[in-house]
Amino acid sequence: MAKVAINLSTGALQQEEVIVGIDLGTTNSLVAYVHPETKTPTAINDLGRGTIVPSVVHFTQQGETIIGTEAKDYLITDPANTIYSVKRLLGKSYKDLGEHKDYFGYKIIDDNSEGLVKIRVGDKFYSPIDLSAEILKELRARAEHALKTPVNRAVITVPAYFNDSQRQATRDAGKLAGLEVLRIVNEPTAAALAYGIGIDPTEEKTVAVYDLGGGTFDISILSIHQGIFEVLATNGDTYLGGDDLDRAIINHWILDNQLIADTINSDKNLSQELRLKAEEAKKVLSTGEVYDSYINDSIKCHITRHTFESLIRPIVDKTIDSCRMALADAKLTPEQIDTVIMVGGSTRVPLVYTSVSDFFGKPANNSLNPDEVVALGAAIQADILAGNRKDILLLDVTPLTLGIETMGGLMDSIIPRNSKIPTKAGRQYTTSVDGQVNMKISVYQGERDLVRENRKLAEFDLKGIPAMPAGFPKVDVNFILNADGILKVEAIELRSGVRQEVEVKPQYGLTDAQVEQMLMDSITHAREDVSARMVIEARTTAEQMLYQVERFLEKNGEHLTEEEIDLTRSNIQKLRESLTTNDKDTILKAVDVLEEQTSPFAERVMQISIKKAMAGKKIE
Ligand code: AMP
Repeated sequence: MAKVAINLSTGALQQEEVIVGIDLGTTNSLVAYVHPETKTPTAINDLGRGTIVPSVVHFTQQGETIIGTEAKDYLITDPANTIYSVKRLLGKSYKDLGEHKDYFGYKIIDDNSEGLVKIRVGDKFYSPIDLSAEILKELRARAEHALKTPVNRAVITVPAYFNDSQRQATRDAGKLAGLEVLRIVNEPTAAALAYGIGIDPTEEKTVAVYDLGGGTFDISILSIHQGIFEVLATNGDTYLGGDDLDRAIINHWILDNQLIADTINSDKNLSQELRLKAEEAKKVLSTGEVYDSYINDSIKCHITRHTFESLIRPIVDKTIDSCRMALADAKLTPEQIDTVIMVGGSTRVPLVYTSVSDFFGKPANNSLNPDEVVALGAAIQADILAGNRKDILLLDVTPLTLGIETMGGLMDSIIPRNSKIPTKAGRQYTTSVDGQVNMKISVYQGERDLVRENRKLAEFDLKGIPAMPAGFPKVDVNFILNADGILKVEAIELRSGVRQEVEVKPQYGLTDAQVEQMLMDSITHAREDVSARMVIEARTTAEQMLYQVERFLEKNGEHLTEEEIDLTRSNIQKLRESLTTNDKDTILKAVDVLEEQTSPFAERVMQISIKKAMAGKKIE
């Protein structure tokens, strides 16, 4: 129960505000809080309905919304008006969905643009943010009802791989639900907190958090020292989870039963019914050896633990591959992991538990309820932010390098991947052309040397740079990545103070598979990327040289002899020709020749101008 406090300056009674922790999950959501007296994190169970609220939204014919278990019942009777797994759509465009579009039982507008996904229910359109807000409103209402106090502030968790746009979408959903979102926290970080690891500041530990939920899979390697949580590496797949285990069972039944195979395509209700039966079978097989049931008294659904395990082994193996990659990123071996934490309902599957324990060479820790552990951790984080716990600090890492485009389309990295966040980094740039008054700042994410191979996050023009010779303006570009993983990019021209900034909310999302692919590509293309970079750098040097020498000829030609001018023109021509070869060495050789030939000119011109200046002055 919430505490009542007295404001000593006014004498007024005021209720101590509760900040809740929310696990907004793909399949299920939960809200938790830290009990002010007992200090124990507790998942809220309003009206004895259980702590788990299925992340399902149903729209009735009368235009009302129903959330949770009751809404889940409509998955079969009214799939078109019943929305599940909306978290998979958060911050995504139609294009992102690609092959996954058919996965949803409800109507996703058919489009192939980069615009954000909308869902059609009857004659209304909803964004995933609207629908997530409905779930959050329900959680908020349950918390307010159970705790008998207003709930206005929350910590919400997201998978470690959520990108900026997905984190921002989660924040927006919170706002729509009337919640001030104090912090977006990675789910594995919350899970570690729930296990109380790191509360004792003298404790030093390396922890692996294996989170296999309904729709997402994350593995995170955390280092905990002096009360600081540091995410050393993360890996995972936003399209891998318990739903895939269910689908493996459904596919098996379709292959095994001609009646199902014949009716599945024409009967949408049957496919929904099969989904529920498959999930039930999976849960039964977590403790039992065999599952038998019927749909409509006629369609037999049978499966043994042995068959189930052979069906899902490739999926489980894929998660173990991710564990291997995360360890490699963290430069650790399985033996160096002190504790393995299991999170997510799907870790109840015995094959998952044994595979993870075998891989890390120690029994995985599953003493807390794997469904509640993230929400409990979020509640602890909320308690810390409320100022009740000052002994813990959280650090996360950014999964991909962030940088800007420089001359020739090269990626200039500003915040390297796996940097701890929050973080701030910057670099100074200048103009390449005389009198340049605008500078385009293009922000990219990725590991490749050429920006065209990376992912563009934002672009803006720094306008109003005072006209100055090339190389004179000083433009500071700063990247500020906050604790929620949201990036602010600011550019300031230091001489004039002109300033421009952008907060990066990329238009569309990025799947885990894409992150993995981007990392893999940067390794497989490393050699060609380096040589491409060297050619581009040589070309840029050559182009700048040509620009300067030609400008010099224009301005100071009078101080050169005719032969000198002819030789310069011929070397300029040779340098231009070298550019057509696209060969770094040929270009740089031509640059050297032109440079060597023209460098005495600059000095000569300087001497002349000094003499002129001196001539005008009287020496005392
Ligand atoms: P979460 O997203 O963490 O709420 O996980 C939900 C997933 O866990 C769903 O795919 C459930 O089917 C799955 N799940 C829940 N209980 C069990 C169980 N006893 N055995 C296997 N899977 C389960």
